[in-house]
Amino acid sequence: MLRRIGSFVTALSLVLVSLVLGSAPAQADGCYTWNRTLSQGASGDDVRQLQIRLSGYPGYGAVLGLDGSFGAATKSALVRFQQAYGLAADGVAGSGTYAKLYALQDDDCTPVNFSYAELNGCNSDWSGGKVAASTARFNALVSMWKLQALRHALGDQSVRVTSGFRSVACNNAVGGASDSRHLYGDAVDLGSGPHSLCKLAQQARNHGFNGILGPGYPGHGDHTHVDHRGGRFWSASSCGI
Ligand SMILES: [Zn+2]
Repeated sequence: MLRRIGSFVTALSLVLVSLVLGSAPAQADGCYTWNRTLSQGASGDDVRQLQIRLSGYPGYGAVLGLDGSFGAATKSALVRFQQAYGLAADGVAGSGTYAKLYALQDDDCTPVNFSYAELNGCNSDWSGGKVAASTARFNALVSMWKLQALRHALGDQSVRVTSGFRSVACNNAVGGASDSRHLYGDAVDLGSGPHSLCKLAQQARNHGFNGILGPGYPGHGDHTHVDHRGGRFWSASSCGI
């Protein structure tokens, strides 16, 4: 009983503190909270956090830079995101946009329909690839936001990840190419069902993937591979790509 009174008093003081400070309880989950409206011309880490989550909306064949500067490309990506979710498409990130982003992200900042574990069946610490573990993990995070956009565009049906990050040892074990993007953490292999491999490859062209390999490309009859290499290389001849 005393403990219950104690926690009631604690809760009451928290309410009083937030009333005194004039700050309503944050709407965000445990990942990230935006504290201002963002529009073209803004810059900062909050812009970069927005760009990461918009990286799946660069437009056909494009890639959104994660530079923390809210330019024309970020505005266009935001408009596409807003349109995709039926929000007012004004290219300004405010409460409506943030509410949708909060709903789409987990406490670890991954989008709700993908997870770090899903993107790394190789090890748990992202080590042993061709980049620092933290870089590989971050690259996977960006890939997940791209995949979340692709998933939504395909009607919010599941998208099946069959391989993501690989250490050199894991890559050798599966016979991956020695310069495979899987070693950098930014490559993802997708399996068929419910979407066909061609459907996935075709749709991926809209979501920020410079690398797309699918049916018709050697060794890709049973999966569609997407990645973030330096320049565009798309090949899936059986899919018209
Ligand atoms: Zn692959």
